[in-house]
Amino acid sequence: MTADYDVAVIGAGIVGSAIARELAGHQLSVALVDACDDVGDGTSKANTAILHTGFDAKPATLESRLVRRGYRLLSDYAAPTGIPIERTGAILVAWDAEQLATLPALKDQAAANEYHRCELVDAATVYQRLPHLGPGALGGLTVPDESIICTWTVNLALATDAVNRGATLLLGHRVESVDTASPRTTLHTTAGPVTAGWVINAAGLGADHIDGQFGYSRFTVTPRRGELIVYDKLARRLVDTIVLPVPTSRGKGVLISPTIYGNVMLGPTSEDLTDPTATGTTQQGLKSLLDKGSRLMPELLDEEITATYAGLRAAIDRADYLIDADPAQRYLLVGGIRSTGLTAGMAIAEHVLGLLREAGLQPEPVAALPDPPRMPNLGEAFTRPYQDSGAIGADPSYGRIVCFCERVTEGELRDACRSMIAPPGIDGLRRRTRVMNGRCQGFFCGAEVQSIFEALR
Ligand SMILES: Cc1cc2nc3c(=O)[nH]c(=O)nc-3n(C[C@H](O)[C@H](O)[C@H](O)COP(=O)(O)OP(=O)(O)OC[C@H]3O[C@@H](n4cnc5c(N)ncnc54)[C@H](O)[C@@H]3O)c2cc1C
Repeated sequence: MTADYDVAVIGAGIVGSAIARELAGHQLSVALVDACDDVGDGTSKANTAILHTGFDAKPATLESRLVRRGYRLLSDYAAPTGIPIERTGAILVAWDAEQLATLPALKDQAAANEYHRCELVDAATVYQRLPHLGPGALGGLTVPDESIICTWTVNLALATDAVNRGATLLLGHRVESVDTASPRTTLHTTAGPVTAGWVINAAGLGADHIDGQFGYSRFTVTPRRGELIVYDKLARRLVDTIVLPVPTSRGKGVLISPTIYGNVMLGPTSEDLTDPTATGTTQQGLKSLLDKGSRLMPELLDEEITATYAGLRAAIDRADYLIDADPAQRYLLVGGIRSTGLTAGMAIAEHVLGLLREAGLQPEPVAALPDPPRMPNLGEAFTRPYQDSGAIGADPSYGRIVCFCERVTEGELRDACRSMIAPPGIDGLRRRTRVMNGRCQGFFCGAEVQSIFEALR
């Protein structure tokens, strides 16, 4: 039997999950469809996890407006859901006279983006804030509200909220072709057909392929790889603020940032590819990061590396998001959400609802919505179960540590496996608990984690 919905959202990354959550808050039956067997298994799991103010966006673009709005929406949503955010702030550092001369224009650009808290600072102030920075910085621009966040928890909270509101999550459903015969559209997926009144394409790196199924050839997604190095927690004393480079036309550039898990991150690179599955790191990419890092913060390179990873930005050949409704086909594209989708996701969802209304869909809001889900805290700066004597007293499994590098307890593994969107495998468990993500990368606890996971699933 074919499943039939008012709206099918393709893509359970941050953007698709936010859209499904928003729509499921209205009198609509919603399906959230993804090729993978977990939510957030595409670009949303591998980024630099910065909650951007949008200070450096191109003014007057849709991206600039939605990043600004998304920053506020996600900050507000983090409180009830427990998504960890650290208000570290950022300093954009100028390393030569040309970059120094650019800083006032960047401050003006921030103001044009309605962000008014940037300050120009001299080199002495930069070194006061960042005493371990390499020599040669000439000055900086502060961005006090740039923040670090947990991208995994954002994705999971939005998808869980969508399901709690009644959306149907269809994982393992790769959309291979689309039949647009009126009045319903059929998505032919690897797990059978799904029929819907409206289709929202939030397929990230696969958005151009789906767009083609609706008869368009208006853009091509270029997977733009970003490789990153994660340093040990002992490196965290070196930097408590995000260190940004002066941005270029190719993107935000290589930064050094504390992570929400208590590490320090160096990256990302920026390299255009053709293969949307090429998420491996490369010798060349890591070498270029080490070269840049040795100038930015030489002491960082003496620290141990915990992990390396790469993510793929869904770059398109225009300098803005491409969000467009086609009322005749009851189809809406959300494309080109390149390097700000974590921040902007909830605002994109709001915008999509507005476009659907303009296109004639007028769903009533649901009168009594469930509370947002309370997510387990993965943030190093906030209390975790192993530190919580009350939680341990009520349930001793929060006192039994399984992963000693990241201090993850048996109780947290059990909670993740029994959660609304349970992990299909160990990678998903890592993203829900931090288990096996530390120094030993699972060398010591891997077998035990595997057996606990198998016993609980
Ligand atoms: C290196 C890097 C650093 C970044 N840093 C930041 C940052 O600091 N702050 C920030 O705000 N943003 C950042 N971003 C951008 C952000 O990560 C993305 O904009 C965001 O994750 C995009 O989410 P999405 O839901 O659009 O895409 P995705 O997370 O890729 O989700 C798309 C989903 O669609 C599914 N899909 C694709 N094709 C099909 C199909 N045919 N059938 C069914 N399902 C399909 C995929 O499986 C996937 O799960 C960064 C990105 C990268 C790569």
